[in-house]
This record gives sequence, structure tokens and C-alpha cells, in this order.
Amino acid sequence: MPSSPEAPVLLWFREDLRLGDNPALAAALETGRPVTALYLFDDASPDLRPLGAASKWWLSYSLKALAEDCAALGLPFALRRGGAATAIPKAAKDAGAAQLIWNRRYEAAEAKLDDEVQARLERAGVEVATFNGRLLHEPWEVTSKAGTPLKVFSPFWRACQAKGEPPPPLPRPTKRAVAAGPALDGLAIDDLAMEPSTPDWAGGLRDAWTPGEAGAREAVAEFIDEGLRGYARDRDRPDRPSTSRMSPHLRFGEVSPRQLWHAVEAAKAEGAAPGQDVEKFRSELGWREFSYHLLHQHPDFATRNVQPRFDAFPWAKPDPEQMRAWHKGLTGYPIVDAGMRQLWTTGWMHNRVRMICASFLIKDLLVDWREGEAWFWDTLVDADPANNAASWQWVAGCGADAAPYFRVFNPILQGEKFDPDGVYVKTFVPELKDVPTRYVHKPWEATEIELRAAGVTLGQDYPHPIIDHARARDRALAAFDRLPPRE
Ligand code: FAD
Repeated sequence: MPSSPEAPVLLWFREDLRLGDNPALAAALETGRPVTALYLFDDASPDLRPLGAASKWWLSYSLKALAEDCAALGLPFALRRGGAATAIPKAAKDAGAAQLIWNRRYEAAEAKLDDEVQARLERAGVEVATFNGRLLHEPWEVTSKAGTPLKVFSPFWRACQAKGEPPPPLPRPTKRAVAAGPALDGLAIDDLAMEPSTPDWAGGLRDAWTPGEAGAREAVAEFIDEGLRGYARDRDRPDRPSTSRMSPHLRFGEVSPRQLWHAVEAAKAEGAAPGQDVEKFRSELGWREFSYHLLHQHPDFATRNVQPRFDAFPWAKPDPEQMRAWHKGLTGYPIVDAGMRQLWTTGWMHNRVRMICASFLIKDLLVDWREGEAWFWDTLVDADPANNAASWQWVAGCGADAAPYFRVFNPILQGEKFDPDGVYVKTFVPELKDVPTRYVHKPWEATEIELRAAGVTLGQDYPHPIIDHARARDRALAAFDRLPPRE
């Protein structure tokens, strides 16, 4: 039976917590029907991976920002909690909705759940429309000439570029475009208790970030003014504010990759950024796309080696003391410790240092990459189902287009190359702030007099290295040699 034109549309927000360039929102408004917005906190569907603690912190603020933005637009917004398979059809019924609209998700469990929700709604006579609000290209749209999925980044990125420019972002709707749907009952955001209280470990996160669409917009503008010029040269330098720090905003969909794509293009057109910096930045968005392309091919991406030969890898049983040292940034390798402390205090870590810390866990400590993936999942504000798994598998050498296993990062040389003055280390490992620069990445080589002058007693103020890098590297390579060759 055709529904009345007055029957509302329910807009289901998920990983797209923004009003600008939101295809689902635009489509909902275009129907001309009254619209009600819903966010469902789903901790009841058994197959979904629960959010980590830092992500929950982010989400609580992002939802508050979204609720305020919806209110300013005159769009009723409700927050509910429950398993989507039943909670979404119930919300549709409560709203008397004729149509449900959402932007698609790409994790296997989420996509399966969405199919189930869609089938249930359609059986109940509710239409469903879904859109791409997360990626430049759907993962299944980018293929080789033979139509097969791609496993290597360069051909993947060429295939993306051959599709031409992504369409311009959709404008943010105005109040006039909104016909308000019915108000649904729901929870207050604080009812979800997503912010830590005892202890409140989130002070550093609050200082570092402004979650929400407005925060994302400000951060983009700041990056274009201050970071984009020189990005290609400086993006590997953790001691410089040279990257966009867009990752958590992208993770929660407070900004779209399309918006970023066109914002940097506009900066180039205005002469504010050289083409090479813009291209490099876009290729990083390309790595994000590639991670989603791989996630689509490998549903168990965060738990299963893409290369099955790694299933036989002789990982060491994690040593609790060594794991604690890695978590807390007390390994005795300053660049590793700075990175792990940056992660703990701010919920984010510079990309170069992520690679160094991951390599240290996997190769120096010989710990299964999944342990590290899980720690990052819990502590990163940008913990992303595609990027995190892809990057850990990349460092471990077991991924699709992975760094070869025998590439073992040397934490001393990496520190000296990418943090040459020790500025990054001294920011996050203040006990080394007076150590002469030439020793800041290897304090154990300083003389006792030099260390004393810097106020450091190794083993007391800062640890001795928990493992000898050269020997650990040999052990890792010997373990790798026992694997069968790549098919
Ligand atoms: P920019 O340099 O400004 O790049 C812009 C955007 O491009 C990023 O926000 C991100 O969306 C994308 N991007 C950049 N580098 C990569 C990359 N190597 N792979 C995929 N996308 C990239 N990124 C996450 O978003 N979530 C994660 O959970 C995550 N886990 C990681 C774990 C490890 C072990 C490693 C080595 C990397 C991980 N990355 C992850 C990738 C990368 O470190 C971050 O995306 C980047 O540091 C975010 O900072 P930015 O926004 O300033 O990056």
C-alpha cells in the first residue's frame, strides 16, 4: 500500500556524524517528507566489535556536537541503545516512518546486520535507501582491467584516479529545507557513560581534540593554512605539526574524504599549496580507500593473516613485563616510548612512530601483531576497522601489499632520521629533556657524567633497553626463515 506523503523518513546516523556532504541526510530532505534522525548505540548485536575506550570518549563528544547541530537545523534527533535488528524496526514503527535512509558501512558484521535490518524493514513495508557517505569509491567499484579486486596499492590508486575527480561535496542543508519529523523518545548521551570517570584518564584527549563537525572544519582550515605546504616533505617528521590529524574526524564521519579532496584542491587553485603536497595528501586518502578495499576482500581483517603462511609463525608468548613496558612507554628506546606515551595521553600517534612502535612489538619482542592491533583499537581515538588492521598487517609483513617481514625498523636510526633534534622524544619523555641531542635516541651511550649532568640515572629515571635490538632482529629473521615461501 503506498504510504502517505506525510509519513516521515527516519535518518539513521552511524559513522557519518555530520550534516555537510551527507548523502543520506540530503536524500532524506529531498523526499520532502518530515525527517527524524536517530543514532543507535548498538552494544547488543553479538558480532559487532565493541568500540575501544578512546573511541567511546570521542563518540560521546561527537554525538553531543551532532545533537546540537541537528537542533540548530530543526531536525529532531534521538539516541537509543540496543541491537539494530530489532531496535531499528521498532524506531521506524515508533516514528511511523515510510522510509529508512542511511550511509553504508563496510565491516563484514555491520554490512550483514544492515542487510538483515533492511530485509526486516522491507517486510514491514518500510522502504530503505542507502548511500556512500564514507569513501571516495565503493570498495567493489575499483577493480583491475579484468574486473578483479586489487591487492597492491599502486595499481589500486591508478584505478581510482582513472575514475576521475570525485563529485563535489553536497552543501550543508539550511533550516528552510527541513520539515521536522516526530520526536522519538530516547536516552541522554551521558546515560551511555562513555566518558571515563574513575579514573578520568581523558584530560590529555580533551586538551588535544575538538570532536564534532565544527571541530573537524576548524582542523581542516588550520591544516590548509599551516601544514599542507610542505606536507610531502615533512609528513614523516613527528617533531613537526605537518600532518592533518584528520583521522579521528574521518573515522567518525565528521568530515568526508570528498570534502578533504576538494578542500586541498581549492588550496592549490588559490596558490596556497604546491601540487606535490596536494597529490601526496590525496594519496594518503588513497591508502585509506585501499584499506577499505582490502577490508571488503578480507572480512576477518583484524584477526586473520591475509597471507595464510603466517598462520605458522612462531610468535613468542607475550611476556607481561615487556608488554607493560610497551604499553606504558618504558621500553628504554626513546622513540618507541615517546610514541606509546603520545598514544596514551592524546589518543593519537604520528604515522611514522606508529610504524616504529608496531615493528618493535612484532619484531623486537616477537609478539603477534593482533596484540598490538587490539591495544591500538582500545587507545586510539581514530581506531578504524580498515586502517588499523591494514597497517598492522602491513608492518607484520602478512598483509596484501605489505612491507617485507625482513624490514625491521631500527628504533635508534629511525629516531635519528625523523626526530633529528629529539624534539618529539623530549616532548613525551621529559625525563630525557636535558640529555645531549646526540644521545637522545640512545641514552645508554652517554657517559655517566653526561647523564648525571642531564639528571638521568638509567634504570632509575629512565629504563635500560628491555631488549637488545641487534639480537632481537636476528631472532625475528630466524623465525621468519622458518615460514613457507609466499604463494
Ligand atoms: P595525514 O598524513 O594527514 O593523512 C590524511 C588521512 O589519510 C588520514 O587521516 C588517514 O585517514 C589517511 N591515511 C594517512 N596515512 C594512512 C595510512 N598509512 N593508511 C591508511 N590511511 C592513511 N589510521 C587510522 O585512521 N586508524 C587507525 O586505527 C590506524 N592504525 C594504524 C596502525 C598502525 C600500526 C600504523 C602504522 C598506522 C595506522 N594508521 C591508522 C594509519 C596512519 O598512521 C594514520 O591514518 C595517520 O597517522 C593519521 O594522522 P593524520 O590524520 O594526521 O594523517
